[in-house]
Amino acid sequence: MKPISSQLKTKMNRLGLRTLRGEKAWEERAADVMPGGVNSPVRAWNGVGGHPLPIASAKGAMITDAAGREFIDLVDSWGAGIVGHAHPQVVSAVRAAASNGLSFGATTEAEVELAEEIRARYAPAQKVRLVSTGTEATMTALRIARAATGRDVIVKFAGCYHGHSDALLVAAGSGLATSGVPDSAGVTAGVAKDTMVLPYGDVDALTDAFAEHGSRIAAVIVEAVPANMGVVSPPEGFHRLISQLCRNEGAVMILDEVLSGFRAGPAGGWGLERDADVAAGHEPWSPDLVTFGKVIGGGLPVASVAGRADLMDLLAPVGAVYQAGTLSGNPVAVAAGLATMRLLDDDAYARLDKVSALLRKGVSEQLHAAGVPHAVGRAGTLFSIFLGLSEPPITFDEVSDQDALRYSDMFHSLRSSGVALPPSAYEAWFVSLAHTEAHVDRVIDAVKTWGGREAKAP
Ligand code: PLP
Repeated sequence: MKPISSQLKTKMNRLGLRTLRGEKAWEERAADVMPGGVNSPVRAWNGVGGHPLPIASAKGAMITDAAGREFIDLVDSWGAGIVGHAHPQVVSAVRAAASNGLSFGATTEAEVELAEEIRARYAPAQKVRLVSTGTEATMTALRIARAATGRDVIVKFAGCYHGHSDALLVAAGSGLATSGVPDSAGVTAGVAKDTMVLPYGDVDALTDAFAEHGSRIAAVIVEAVPANMGVVSPPEGFHRLISQLCRNEGAVMILDEVLSGFRAGPAGGWGLERDADVAAGHEPWSPDLVTFGKVIGGGLPVASVAGRADLMDLLAPVGAVYQAGTLSGNPVAVAAGLATMRLLDDDAYARLDKVSALLRKGVSEQLHAAGVPHAVGRAGTLFSIFLGLSEPPITFDEVSDQDALRYSDMFHSLRSSGVALPPSAYEAWFVSLAHTEAHVDRVIDAVKTWGGREAKAP
């Protein structure tokens, strides 16, 4: 472990955390008042071990903890920070909005602009309802689908995460996998029985499910790019098949782009498939409903359910599906989202593509050089590294064969080299527009320094 610099000691003294033992004191204080010391489970580092200090600030590609240690951030607020932390244009838009009033509980012009911005980039989003979290968005999408079809059953895929509403908290990927619990306690058998879980990418399981239960299926929900079990590249034709089966059987296809939307590519995971279909001469398919989050809020709480106008108009006040939110479309949050989206032009996506490619290639080369078996999962600019696998996985069972203990070694070693990886082997590595080639080189050097050795949490 590195010696503590005098600067670090001063800062820790100020926090009342005198030595690295002090980190434990911090953790105890947090855990005394908040379950597990966190407000979202994966932040507790259960998947890698160790005790995170609170974060003090972040700027550009860097994040700084309360002891003043700086890290190249590859978490980026789990994908929301696509333009880099505290981007001046986003901060100034937020300041301007805040000075006009924090919340009105009434519609603003900026909400309409954000909805228009989403629709202009993503054609299947004919109408948009803004909400505050991805969980609300997917929960509402299910409600619309059930209302539209008069059916109960939802099909989801093992390892895909769609937020923490009861019906979707079954075999749900990263957070649960990291905590070592397959399904959440507190979800009633009654709710779980209406959720059918299939292996991701399994054509036979999907066609059999429709053959047997088609008339009971209200919706199939799938991540446009599964990225909550590490990043899985959607098998060619799988999502098109979902779309066809849903259309044939009168079910609703819900594409969850909360993580991948406006991040995997300019039109999310769907856009990548549309472009590939057009290039291959296939007729592109479209989801009936789609959910967004993360990027469209630029780091503040905005998410949305969107899709076919006839389905969206089932929502109150037009239709009979109730959904509401005191802070939905909050003006400050919408200002952050709009400013972020407006920074995402063709050049921005070309840059994200380039940096993401350099990073995954450089990291993979260093791992090869160190003799660490691994596979790279990738879709567009999204990627993750699976240690211990020789092929990119598709199903959650395949993902679960990765060497999560070795990931923990890599995590801690890179941290001591000033790189913050996601604290779980089941998460994507996120790059932003603020990551430069120099940052990429530093991450690659850090992987070289690690060299596959054991590394324990401080
Ligand atoms: N859907 C996907 C694909 C996600 O990755 C997430 C969150 O990570 C959600 C839904 C839930 O979003 P939120 O955490 O905003 O509720």
